[in-house]
Amino acid sequence: IQSYTFALAGNPNAGKTTLFNHLTGARQHVGNYPGITVDRKEGYLNDNGRKITIVDLPGTYSLTAYSAEELVARDFLVNEKPEVVINIVDASNLERNLYLTTQFLELGVPLVIALNMVDVAKTRGITVQAEKLEEILGVPVVPIVARSGLGTRALLDAACRIAAEGNAWQPLDISYGDDLDATILRLVEVITTSRFLTARYPARFTAIKYLENDEQILDRGRDESPAIAAELEADVARVSQHLQKTLNVFPEAIIADHRYGYLKAVLRDGVITHAFDVDRLY
Ligand code: GDP
Ligand code: MG
Repeated sequence: IQSYTFALAGNPNAGKTTLFNHLTGARQHVGNYPGITVDRKEGYLNDNGRKITIVDLPGTYSLTAYSAEELVARDFLVNEKPEVVINIVDASNLERNLYLTTQFLELGVPLVIALNMVDVAKTRGITVQAEKLEEILGVPVVPIVARSGLGTRALLDAACRIAAEGNAWQPLDISYGDDLDATILRLVEVITTSRFLTARYPARFTAIKYLENDEQILDRGRDESPAIAAELEADVARVSQHLQKTLNVFPEAIIADHRYGYLKAVLRDGVITHAFDVDRLY
């Protein structure tokens, strides 16, 4: 018998728990992640003879180790390797919600996007062209209304298909501008010489997290590959000082700006249409 684990991930209030309840009904178990007070919620369903475990991850805006929730979500993905990450996004607030999505794409996890709250978006005159978004991002995008269950059958089908086929795409490479792109290439070259630093994440993901000053990844590097970690940290410190001196910014801010820039470009090309198009009033 086939058994899969699907993780539900997304921003707070994107509708994770509503979808979780809809899919699993009363077949739920709530526990704790060891050592912290973040709830661990699991539910179960049988679907066409498959046993599916659904894990409702804590809501996060990012995948950097800035909070316990972000750490739990990221550790779950790399340690327990769910067959599919179902990234639930709020269609009425798409650009902001897709910020987290860019990091799943950089991490290279098997991904399906549940485009939730299409009912709310519709009342605001917003239509999201799911096929177009799917084509640009290269992962399935399924419109749903978690509250009523609309679209959840298609969502499960898409997730089961990805679970059976595995991850068919390459991790996303966003450009972070000339300074940081060159730095990332240098860091990747050093990271790939350490089997510890390449055990969990793609080298490029680790390089970006070094630039984002991610404490968990920095600490692990110091523990597991001290000489290489020192080399990486020295390079990052040099670049960071240069950016502060010349542009008065930290690498984290440049990275965030470029992620939003990438998303603006993605959403510009007819992915979102507004019912009340101001241009047509004139
Ligand atoms: P979570 O923080 O991601 O777990 O989000 P919740 O599942 O708690 O949902 C946040 C709020 O959005 C709740 O009031 C839900 O009832 C509501 N909600 C979730 N999905 C939908 C939807 O598809 N349509 C509408 N109109 N409301 C929804
Ligand atoms: Mg919730």
